Amino acid sequence: MKKPKLKKLDVALIIIFFALAAINALSWLSTPFSDFYVQKIYPIYSAVPVFIAGLFPFSVGEIMIILFVAAVLIGIPGVIIYALVKRSAPEKSKKALAAAVRLLCLVFVYVFATETLGCFVMYHCSKFSDRYFKPVEHSEELLLDTLSAVSVRISELCGEFDRDPDGYIVLPDDPADDCREAMRALSADYSQLKGWFPRPKKIMNSFFMSQEGIIGLYIPFAFEATYNRDIQPIAAPATICHELAHLKGIIQEDEASFVAIMACLRCGTDELKYSACLDAFYYLYVNALELRGTDYEERLWQSVAPVPKQVWDNDLGSYTADYWEKNQHKEVIPTETVSAISEKLTDANLTLNGVSDGINAYNRVVELLMDYYGNGGEF
Ligand SMILES: [Zn+2]
Repeated sequence: MKKPKLKKLDVALIIIFFALAAINALSWLSTPFSDFYVQKIYPIYSAVPVFIAGLFPFSVGEIMIILFVAAVLIGIPGVIIYALVKRSAPEKSKKALAAAVRLLCLVFVYVFATETLGCFVMYHCSKFSDRYFKPVEHSEELLLDTLSAVSVRISELCGEFDRDPDGYIVLPDDPADDCREAMRALSADYSQLKGWFPRPKKIMNSFFMSQEGIIGLYIPFAFEATYNRDIQPIAAPATICHELAHLKGIIQEDEASFVAIMACLRCGTDELKYSACLDAFYYLYVNALELRGTDYEERLWQSVAPVPKQVWDNDLGSYTADYWEKNQHKEVIPTETVSAISEKLTDANLTLNGVSDGINAYNRVVELLMDYYGNGGEF
């Protein structure tokens, strides 16, 4: 029997695969390796592809996903039909099958490479709080003091904006460039943010993204920061900066949210500051709700008392109240199904990357906010 011959491309793919596996193993075993990679290698590796991806006004990653789904839906039946038609010439159908498998391997190795180098390794870096903050006790008092400080800031800022007849904030301009500038300015404090920021891209199929419960998405295989174009405008700045933080190798969800809040708060316009405060408030408040039924309950309600009704009614949601009803016609797969699958996938991705609390990692931004406030920071 003739042994199947490996082509040069096959050998290259196998070598690259094992090299990537070794990089992943090393990152799990050594925090200094991961830190060195993120600080010294990743900026060089990512600079050119991020710049090239930034030249496109649309999300290249979204197009890649659509093409992949279409290729799978058309390609698999196509290869089967071809093999059946060419039954009399088994060599030809064998060749077609080999080409399809090779293409699939190529795509797999490309995604594995870009995920490893732009995402997986970063999960094993040293913690942000260890690098930048003196340890503080995450007490109930500190949580409520931090929540209280954000509530006061919200009450000061919420009257500063134009609103539509339904009470939703209307932003005068697209905040994307202000976000890029705010992130660049924050690089003076956090060196990992140094360098150029591309314009974040709006996703065309944003309703599907909404169904998944996703408001922003970093796409390592396309070197892009993207976001959901359907979110209400005031939610955009904090979301955009979160995704731009991922693009700079800050991969942990809580750390990306914290950096986004800091960039908007300290270097941004009033719109950016308010967006950051709303994001911080959301996480702090949800966390503080755990204090209901304890001795701290009264202080909890006092902490949020400065927040005006309009903020609760209009500003805190990612979408306007009529969004789901207005877009019902776009629902191909039921939202509950899409959302449940998406949550499971996000949770699995985080857990596989060593984030022990999975999807709850997003909430850990509360600890960073307390570290910041406990170390004398202001909102
Ligand atoms: Zn994220």
